[in-house]
Amino acid sequence: MKYCNSCRKLHNDNEETCKECKKPLNVIEDNNTPVFLISAEGFEKDRIIAALSDAGIPSDTKRRKKDNSANTVTGVDMSDLNILVPYQAYKKAYDICVGIGAIKEEGEEIIEDGVYEPSNEKSLDKQFEELNDGSKVGRIVLALMLLILIGLAVFGTDAITGFIKNLFI
Ligand SMILES: [Zn+2]
Repeated sequence: MKYCNSCRKLHNDNEETCKECKKPLNVIEDNNTPVFLISAEGFEKDRIIAALSDAGIPSDTKRRKKDNSANTVTGVDMSDLNILVPYQAYKKAYDICVGIGAIKEEGEEIIEDGVYEPSNEKSLDKQFEELNDGSKVGRIVLALMLLILIGLAVFGTDAITGFIKNLFI
């Protein structure tokens, strides 16, 4: 496992540079190396740190540089903080974050896709209904034309034109 010395994010061994910082990655040699877990702000940050602390995982926070100017103006610490945990506790800390809903696992995103699908099916059903209605109208028109053709064959043109005239008088 490798990590970025700048943002502290973990990377796979086959990666050479950090995707975000474009900096060369370091190999983790010390299990206590602080690594990036999640970035959070305000109460969410407190909630995550408290949950980690309950599980006996020490954590550290590192303010994102870009938020410094906003803090000096408001004086309120609402900036995003990168929460760091020791590398050896990373997996456990990650699971805790998933458990308290701070991190969404890939599986949950698939469920969200599943929620989206029924509405898709609904619209398909609607389209099918509309198609059905269309074919009903088509069948009625066809039936009327067939009746007129039969009328033409049986009663002749005069009877039909007389019938249609009667309809409109
Ligand atoms: Zn980085």
